[in-house]
Amino acid sequence: MEHKSASSNFIRTIVQEDLQSGKVKQIVTRFPPEPNGYLHIGHAKAICLNFELADEFNGKTNLRFDDTNPLKEDKEYVDAIKEDVKWLGFEWDGLYFASDYFEEMYNRAVLLIKKGKAYVCDLSAEEIRATRGTLTEPGQESPYRNRSVEENLDLFERMRRGEFKDGEKVLRAKIDMASPNINLRDPVLYRISHTPHHHTGTKWCIYPMYDFAHPLEDAIEGVTHSLCTLEFEDHRPLYDWVVRECEMEHQPQQYEFARLNMTNTVMSKRYLKQLVDEKVVDGWDDPRMPTISGLRRRGYTPESIRTFAREIGVSRSNSVVDARMLEHFLREDLKLKAPRTMAVLRPLKVVIVNYPEGQTEMLDAEINPENPEMGIRQIPFSREIYIEQDDFMENPPSKYFRLFPGNEVRLKHAYFIKCVDVIKDEDGRVVELHCTYDPETKSGSGFTGRKVKGTIHWVEARSAVPAEFRLYDSLFLDEQDAADQSLLDRLNPNSLEIVHGFVEPNMRQAKPQDKFQFFRHGYFNVDPKYTTDDHLVFNRIVPLKSSFDIKKQS
Ligand code: ATP
Ligand code: MG
Repeated sequence: MEHKSASSNFIRTIVQEDLQSGKVKQIVTRFPPEPNGYLHIGHAKAICLNFELADEFNGKTNLRFDDTNPLKEDKEYVDAIKEDVKWLGFEWDGLYFASDYFEEMYNRAVLLIKKGKAYVCDLSAEEIRATRGTLTEPGQESPYRNRSVEENLDLFERMRRGEFKDGEKVLRAKIDMASPNINLRDPVLYRISHTPHHHTGTKWCIYPMYDFAHPLEDAIEGVTHSLCTLEFEDHRPLYDWVVRECEMEHQPQQYEFARLNMTNTVMSKRYLKQLVDEKVVDGWDDPRMPTISGLRRRGYTPESIRTFAREIGVSRSNSVVDARMLEHFLREDLKLKAPRTMAVLRPLKVVIVNYPEGQTEMLDAEINPENPEMGIRQIPFSREIYIEQDDFMENPPSKYFRLFPGNEVRLKHAYFIKCVDVIKDEDGRVVELHCTYDPETKSGSGFTGRKVKGTIHWVEARSAVPAEFRLYDSLFLDEQDAADQSLLDRLNPNSLEIVHGFVEPNMRQAKPQDKFQFFRHGYFNVDPKYTTDDHLVFNRIVPLKSSFDIKKQS
């Protein structure tokens, strides 16, 4: 798979230097998700960074499931993550599970005990927290800290055998309770959890903690550059301690970069899961979700997401990226690819009273004026059509150039029509318009007799295909992730609007995930979940225009 080369960033510079100096012969990176939820656009940043770096420098990238916490993990997530990485366009070299290394990790923990670098501690989680100290005060040593090697070996083995209950004992590293880095104050390495694991079943009832497991996983796989987000910067000394004290042959190096945050959304599996569990959204792949599967169902392309990930760059300062930037790259990607077509989202019937009854003509229309190679489509035109309700006003303000009584507009790809009568129901609502057309004004005929100011879209009534349109707004009202407010209080009550209208007859062929540009409305994707053989559902990916200025963003 070809990828445009990654734009320059500080990690790329480090990799280049390591290769030039011979410190590293071939780079190995990894993407290490915990299978406790679906991937989101933040993960896409990490995926692109790892895979594109390796691609560029002829290295390797592993997909590794960091499955060390059976309580929250599930096979469903493993499968979804694999699908998402593939869909983004990447192929992993090795596919690994941290749980495959449990035996080796156990042996390394035994080595630590033998070296007097780890001990079994009977303090509860709360007691450990309470004795950890603060930024200004050292922690207190555990009363179990000086157990003999023999006792520790015996207890650790019995922990493994299942002799103790959850929380009764842990294995802790013996480092320094007075270290200025709190992560080094005898961190927990193993905990007891009698929870079946999605990959290892009931084989284990002790599980390694992230800070112990992760460096070992990287070392076992020969990872050279272990990229993670900035919160782990303070964990790096512990990462290095584990690699060194466990006497790992290969020494991986951790580098941190800023997490991706975006406006008007949340970017944490925990919160996203809450939205799913509380049924605020229609599953992990709800088109409003910032998940990869949600973006895919909404209609985003892998190309647009990869370009976005590349353009936001990789740095060490946290910032919030404007969600409209992703929309910008989608428009850029679909501009040349998506066929143009007309859709009427909120229909109003128009009868063209001087057009012969029973006649239908086929009109030529370019499939994509920005990409003439896509050719021509034919659209039917007859005496009855639908137009958009808001393309008509009975009493328009000045500067309204669309249809109103007595006014003439151009029907895209067809003729000029003039409104001659307005039909209303008993309640006074406009239900139908009568218009006349001028055969001289046919689109493409070179007619120059007079000009009109408005061009509106339409769909021929008899052949029109009914369709459902789902129009989205952001899930959250406020731009920033306001941690002090409950998630549900921040929700945008109008994030989904469903309307019913019509599309051109050639859209009968549309398949799930096909993408179109509806004239004046924006880019739409055929929804894969709700579309059936006789019910077309479209998700609006993005409207056509945005107030967003990409040039102002760097
Ligand atoms: P979450 O808080 O959403 O659960 P996480 O970091 O716990 O995220 P992991 O599955 O552990 O999720 O992450 C896998 C990889 O993706 C890690 O290397 C992590 O650094 C990276 N990652 C996660 N979120 C982001 C983000 N918002 N921006 C960039 N990288 C991210
Ligand atoms: Mg996590």
